[in-house]
Amino acid sequence: MSKGKIIIISAPSGCGKSTIINALLQRGEIDMQFSVSATNRPPREGEVHGVNYYFLSDDDFRKAISQDEFVEYEEVYPGRYYGTLKREISRIVDSGHNVVLDIDVKGGVNVKRMYGDEAVSVFIQPPSVEALCERLVGRGTESPEAIDQRVARAGFEISYAPQFDHTVVNDDLGRAIDNVSDILKDFTCR
Ligand code: 5GP
Repeated sequence: MSKGKIIIISAPSGCGKSTIINALLQRGEIDMQFSVSATNRPPREGEVHGVNYYFLSDDDFRKAISQDEFVEYEEVYPGRYYGTLKREISRIVDSGHNVVLDIDVKGGVNVKRMYGDEAVSVFIQPPSVEALCERLVGRGTESPEAIDQRVARAGFEISYAPQFDHTVVNDDLGRAIDNVSDILKDFTCR
């Protein structure tokens, strides 16, 4: 049995990245399983430990770092750490399935560098920073401070787009899902 490949999806927060990934998982046309990351941020309403993230305390996150449990990890927002677990990737790819990572731009670029042709990286771009801000306010999951933090980071994240294999602008959700789907079908069938 051949090993699965790595699919990296990155985007500024609020770009519809999770919606796109969930739509693709639901369509089931591409063989891929979601890699559940670890984070020390608190769960949002409705988020489930082991499904959306492994929600760790600051201490447990530090322990996981010292025990070399991560492929990569980043401090995406001040004091907020997110990391891809080695055991998630190996559990999925060793069983012959492709794994999809929803990670920040720095992590995305690093993982692509590590896995080379065994990975594809896709950057989801918002039509504009204003549109992104409107989406974050509309989503209502974040405090005004967190929204400011996320919008402030968006410019920095967009500057990473040229380092990705593909960029898809999410100005129309249905079309963005189709575009990402075509890219992934092409990659996984190679
Ligand atoms: P959120 O707090 O909105 O769930 O995620 C914030 C950011 O952290 C998003 O850009 C998300 O893609 C990123 N992220 C989630 N998991 C990981 C991870 O394992 N590694 C890295 N580097 N970023 C992650």
